[in-house]
Amino acid sequence: MNDFLARLAGVIGSANLFTADTDTARYTTDQRGRYHGRPLAVARPGSTAEVAALVRLARAHQVAIVPQGGNTSTCGGATPDGSGRQLLVALERLNRVRALDAANHSLTVEAGMTLAAVQQAAADADRLFPLSLASEGSCQIGGNLSTNAGGLAVLRYGTMRELTLGLEVVLPDGQVLNALSGLRKDTSGLDVKQLFIGAEGQLGLITAATLKLFARPTAHATALVGVRDAAAAIAWLNALKDAFGDRLTTFEIMSEVCQNLLAKYHPGQLPFTAPWALLIELSDSGDSAELGERLVAWLAEQDMLDGVVAQSEAERQKLWQLREAMSETQKRDGPSIKHDIGVPSSAIPAFLDEAGTALEAAFPGVRVVAFGHAGDGNLHYNVSYTRPGNAELFSDEPRVNEIVYDLVYRHAGTLAAEHGIGQLKPHWLARYKDPVALAVMKTIKQALDPAGLMNPGRWL
Ligand SMILES: Cc1cc2nc3c(=O)[nH]c(=O)nc-3n(C[C@H](O)[C@H](O)[C@H](O)COP(=O)(O)OP(=O)(O)OC[C@H]3O[C@@H](n4cnc5c(N)ncnc54)[C@H](O)[C@@H]3O)c2cc1C
Repeated sequence: MNDFLARLAGVIGSANLFTADTDTARYTTDQRGRYHGRPLAVARPGSTAEVAALVRLARAHQVAIVPQGGNTSTCGGATPDGSGRQLLVALERLNRVRALDAANHSLTVEAGMTLAAVQQAAADADRLFPLSLASEGSCQIGGNLSTNAGGLAVLRYGTMRELTLGLEVVLPDGQVLNALSGLRKDTSGLDVKQLFIGAEGQLGLITAATLKLFARPTAHATALVGVRDAAAAIAWLNALKDAFGDRLTTFEIMSEVCQNLLAKYHPGQLPFTAPWALLIELSDSGDSAELGERLVAWLAEQDMLDGVVAQSEAERQKLWQLREAMSETQKRDGPSIKHDIGVPSSAIPAFLDEAGTALEAAFPGVRVVAFGHAGDGNLHYNVSYTRPGNAELFSDEPRVNEIVYDLVYRHAGTLAAEHGIGQLKPHWLARYKDPVALAVMKTIKQALDPAGLMNPGRWL
C-alpha cells in the first residue's frame, strides 16, 4: 500500500493526500454519527484528469474507492468501512463554474461545488437553480446527483434527474465519459447520464454536470396553515393545484408532534399548533404583494383551523426557517429510526393512519415524527419512543422497518424517495424492489465495474 500511496501523492500532490487520523477524522463519520469508518487515506483530487489518473491507479492496485461530497447523507452513503483498505475520494476541490449559458438557461459546474454556491452562481446571472435542501450549505452537486436529491421544490421543478442536462463521469476503468450537454432534446441513443444519477457512486465518479436553469421568480406568497387531519391536507394540495397551477412551488406538512418539538427547541417561533401544519409557497413573475393578495383571498374561502400569510421577506424567511430546522430539531431530541418513504400523495392519509395504528399496537408508547414534502408524496417518517432512554430503540429497528415498509409497498410506494440507500437500507431494497429491476442494475454494475471497486458494500 505504501507504493500505491506514494504514486497517488505523485498524481494529486502530497498536500492533498491525508493519512493521519487528525486529518481524516472529519471525513470518516456520517452526519448522523451512526457510521464510523477507517479509510486507507483521504484523497482530494483537483481536476478531472487527476480523478481519472487516481481511478486508474486504484484499479491497478485493486483499491476500492468511496466517493464523498458534502457528507450529508442520512444513510451512511459516503462513509468508508472499518477495514483501513478503502480510499475515500473527496471531490471538494472540484469546485469551479465551468460555463454559464444564461441565454440557454444552463450552467456547467464541477461536482464539488456546494448546492448553495451553485444556486448563487445561477442567481448572479439572474437565473434560478431550483434544487433546495436544508443541507444546501454543505451538500455538493456530485452528492445531489448521486442520490437524485429532491427537497423543497420538487412539486414544481422535479428532482435532480429532471434538473440535469449533461454529466461528466470518470468510469471505474479510468475513462472519462463526456456527456456534458446543454440540449433539452437529444434522441441520439440511450441517455447514459441517467445511469449515474442516483447510483450513489457505485458506477463511477461524477466530476461535472450541466444543470437546467429557470427564470427567477420575482413574487412569492408563503403561508403556514393548520388543518384537522392528513386527509384535509391532501384535499388542500389538490385545491391549491386547481387554483394556482404551476405557481404552487412548495407544499410541506408537519404533524403536531413535529410542531411540539419546534415549540420546545425554538420557543415563541411557531405562530400556532394544529393537528397538521402546511407550509405553502406560490411563486411567479410580477409582484409579491399582488400574489399575496390572491393567496389571502383564496384562503379566506377555505376551511382551516388557523393560518398566517407572510407579510414581508423577513416573515417568509421565518416560516421557512421553522420547516428547515425540523431535521436538526429532531436530532437534538434524541435518536430515531428514520424513514424516507414515498407513496402517491393521494395515499398519504391512509398510509399515516395504518402505519400509526400498526406501530402503536406493536410498540405501545411509540412516537412518530412525520413531516416532509407531501406535495410529491415524500415523507420523513421517523420513529422513537415517548418513554425515557430510548435504549432499545435500534434493536427494534428491523420490526419497525418491516411494519413501515410493508405498508409503504402496499400503497405502491418506495423506501427511498430522496436520500438513497447507502449502508442503511441495502437488505431492505433486496426485499422490496422488483427482482428483475435489481438484476438489470447488477448487470450494468458488472459491465462497468467488474472488480467491484466503486463504493463497495452498498446495494449493487
Ligand atoms: C438537515 C438535512 C436536510 C436534508 N434534506 C434533504 C432534502 O430535503 N432532500 C434530499 O434529497 N436530501 C436531503 N438531505 C440528505 C442529503 O443532504 C442529500 O442526500 C444530498 O444530496 C447528499 O449530498 P452530499 O454532497 O452531502 O453527498 P454525500 O453524503 O457526500 O454522498 C452521498 C452519496 O453520493 C456519493 N457521491 C458523492 N459525491 C459523488 C460524486 N461526485 N460522484 C459519485 N458519487 C458521489 C457518495 O459516495 C454517497 O453514496 C438532507 C440532509 C440533512 C443533513
